[in-house]
Amino acid sequence: MSLEAAIRELGRKGPRCTYSVLYDRLTPEQQDELDACMADVDLTSSGIAKGISSEWGLQIGAHVVNRHRNEGCSCGAR
Ligand SMILES: [Zn+2]
Repeated sequence: MSLEAAIRELGRKGPRCTYSVLYDRLTPEQQDELDACMADVDLTSSGIAKGISSEWGLQIGAHVVNRHRNEGCSCGAR
């Protein structure tokens, strides 16, 4: 197998996670706000999930936020 073929097989991004689907539906202002919270290590993933739900009326699980945040996410985003 060539290097390129191996990387294409091993490094392929998985299906997009709930977080990235939700993120795409936000306005640029909301995305900025959310990016800032996601980058703030003093904020918990469950707090972020609750905030998204109470302020924007969008449902997302804390575990989804947490996984996406810790770069172990199938979508390959950071
Ligand atoms: Zn993700």
